[in-house]
Amino acid sequence: MSKQLNLMAYKNALLGNQNSYKFALGLAIINTIKSDRKISYTKIAKEIARYYFKHHFIYKINETNNLNQKPIVITILEEYMKIKYGKKIIPTKLTNNDLDNLSIYLIDPSKMKCKVNDLEIKKKLNKQGFFYYTLPCWQHASKENGKKYYSYKQKDENDYFSYDIDEQEIVITDSFYKLITKEKELLKYITVTEWVKFAEKFNITPRLYQKISLDKPKRNNQKFRELFDNIKILEGNICYICGEKIIRKREKTLDHVIPFSYVYSCELWNLATAHKTCNSSKGNKIGSPNMIKKLIRRNENLWELDDDIPAKYKKKYYKYFKNTFNCKQDIAIRIQKLVQDCKEAGFQQMKSKRGQIL
Ligand SMILES: [Zn+2]
Repeated sequence: MSKQLNLMAYKNALLGNQNSYKFALGLAIINTIKSDRKISYTKIAKEIARYYFKHHFIYKINETNNLNQKPIVITILEEYMKIKYGKKIIPTKLTNNDLDNLSIYLIDPSKMKCKVNDLEIKKKLNKQGFFYYTLPCWQHASKENGKKYYSYKQKDENDYFSYDIDEQEIVITDSFYKLITKEKELLKYITVTEWVKFAEKFNITPRLYQKISLDKPKRNNQKFRELFDNIKILEGNICYICGEKIIRKREKTLDHVIPFSYVYSCELWNLATAHKTCNSSKGNKIGSPNMIKKLIRRNENLWELDDDIPAKYKKKYYKYFKNTFNCKQDIAIRIQKLVQDCKEAGFQQMKSKRGQIL
């Protein structure tokens, strides 16, 4: 007979012995539960793969403060991507096939055949997978009778679910199921908030809540298009990335000079014209030092324009640009600081091309 659960009890269950797996499992259960209350490990593992892929490869969020002790989930993802994509640019989304494969490896990492003959990695992959430690730890990991290590049981139950490592299945308790049906959104909110509180100790990145929750802000470049088309300084027929002319209109795109996946919002000061092809090959990288210089100068000129902005666009000019900065000097300081933070977070910066027109 499981006890009556409420939001506070759930929140408390997330505290203590924290690691990111705890939050990931909570979130995966809330997101995948169906009325039969049973969830296979495979299904949960796919969710987990999705979360960590986005966090690690797209947003470059650290899941632990010890970089030498990466969670096994990250090691598996990194190895998988290395084998599949080599040095090519990693796509922003996992395919169904990726999720199928990754779910197998997350449950049992030793099934993964790593291409590189790296003993260190092989040793890591011979350890237990995601569920082995996470399930017994979920509600309260206790060191039994003063033992040095936690004991991980193959079968057990807590107030939230029972599980069976051999059957590879989780069964949600009646009271947790009731709580999820009633308070799904609040439970998600609590889980993400606790994950953010945990992660912000060792991450400096804007909009951590949105990133961890995988809530995607609208990339509404369209509203900026109008400004680019009608304010001379902005409308460039030169590609910021390669420095060549943009001849055909359909080749013209707006690039986020500091990557969108770091800034995580669309900002006029961060957008610049670029060829479609140049833009996609730039991917997740920060614009080169030359591009940054050029961007700062353009924004400073844009700041000066003020009275010369056509009346029709004045409101947008203030809303999306002028109100964002305190003064003209603020522009360079803020952009350089963001570039620095972005680099520290692990994003690569493009190299400046020699002889590029600035
Ligand atoms: Zn170009």
